Amino acid sequence: MDKEKCIFCKIVNRESPSHIVYEDNEHIAFLDIAPFSIGHTLVCPKRHGETLWDMTEEEIGKLFMVASRISKAVVKAVGAQGFRLIQNNGEAANQVVAHVHIHVIPVRMEDRGKFLDRKKFTEEEMLKTADIIKQAITNSDSIVEEQRK
Ligand code: AMP
Ligand code: ZN
Repeated sequence: MDKEKCIFCKIVNRESPSHIVYEDNEHIAFLDIAPFSIGHTLVCPKRHGETLWDMTEEEIGKLFMVASRISKAVVKAVGAQGFRLIQNNGEAANQVVAHVHIHVIPVRMEDRGKFLDRKKFTEEEMLKTADIIKQAITNSDSIVEEQRK
């Protein structure tokens, strides 16, 4: 896959719109355009690579650390009770976007055992959800800062 044509590289470079909830020097996280649940977030390294095998072990470690941290904010923000992390590598694994990403999918007790299906939310709902997740991430950052003191 040509990285000039990669949709997630375009999101990183602000050439394509998205609902970004988190960014640091090496990572970006934004809402999935066709979410399995409200708050479904994708966490990506900014550097283009198709699968985990294109990343160093240190990069893989950091990516999962960021996803874990974001999962706490996502679950809290949308009032879910659990979450799934899904990470697809290769066509055989149903990877559609060839830029490494981790799905953070918040889940509720009432959906336990149910098949995951794509939902559609309004632009207003997506904006509001991105805002509360951003807020929860900011709050969790300040909690981490507090604990370091
Ligand atoms: P995967 O099957 O793991 O490659 O999943 C790719 C995910 O990217 C899917 O859940 C899509 O809904 C999502 N997606 C594709 N294009 C965009 C986009 N422009 N903004 C946000 N999410 C996207
Ligand atoms: Zn890319």
